[in-house]
Amino acid sequence: MTPLLTAGVGPAIQALLDDLVASHRPSSPAGRVPESIPHLASADPLAFGIAVAGVDGSMASSGDADLPLSIQSISKLFSLALALAHDPEGNLWSRVLREPSGTPFNSLVQLEAEAGIPRNPFINAGALVVTDFLVELLGDAAGSVVGFLRDLSGSAHVAVDEGAAQAELAASSRNRALANFLAGFGNLRNPVETVLEHYVRHCSITMTCRELARAGLFLANGGQGGPGGQPVLSAAQTKRINSVLLTCGMYDAAGEFAYRVGLPGKSGVGGGILAVVPGRCTVCVWSPGLDAKGNSVAGTSALAELTARTGWSIF
Ligand code: GLN
Repeated sequence: MTPLLTAGVGPAIQALLDDLVASHRPSSPAGRVPESIPHLASADPLAFGIAVAGVDGSMASSGDADLPLSIQSISKLFSLALALAHDPEGNLWSRVLREPSGTPFNSLVQLEAEAGIPRNPFINAGALVVTDFLVELLGDAAGSVVGFLRDLSGSAHVAVDEGAAQAELAASSRNRALANFLAGFGNLRNPVETVLEHYVRHCSITMTCRELARAGLFLANGGQGGPGGQPVLSAAQTKRINSVLLTCGMYDAAGEFAYRVGLPGKSGVGGGILAVVPGRCTVCVWSPGLDAKGNSVAGTSALAELTARTGWSIF
């Protein structure tokens, strides 16, 4: 364990991140990219970036940490946070559970068997319910997630890649089926196409590792750190989001990720992973090649090494 790494992001972090880039950047294309999102096929399979944002305001990064990536399901974490920021009583939780699914992120079977109540907000069915909640509350759900992310990251560059969104929308048979199941069970309050479009558009937001690490910092900081010094969420809400991230953030690989990395985290099929080290920092890592569960291969192994070398696991 590196003794220097005891508070915030110290100078030793830069050397560590450079080291992780050198040893985890793929030397040849590995893993796969999702077929349902045509735009992701064009991502550089050898890309690898990592950024660490400290609760003390410090930031370190290495590799391709300034290249925009498609945040995909990492957006589900921010759409949930935005929904809960408007829902202090937690009414949302009557429409979506907080249990690991043990099934792939786009699975249909469980939703039918469990009468249209998704297992958690981080699988696609649950995120569609959260998006529906935001449409009802704010109208422009995707635009509101973009605004939220701009505020949190301090970056005006955060935007929806409209080309990627249109291409995914045209290939969204499974998500459309999930949304129709939800509607059939009375767990969608807006039209299927409206909810689907907002969902796909917030998945198609592009951000860099540095922007994502900064945007997630409130999760490492008890909910503090919104624009103008306002809290983003209460400490209790933040604790609970981190709990759901730990148990559900990596879909049916949540157990394996907890075993290898030991941090709450959220992955996306764009190859990004945002992990939270409560009280200390956030880490965003990106490499496009995915494993069979849809999580970045190189990203997961880099995080495993990072927590092994720093002791930054919650366990
Ligand atoms: N937009 C993707 C989908 O709905 C997000 C999936 C993911 O990142 N796991 O399938």
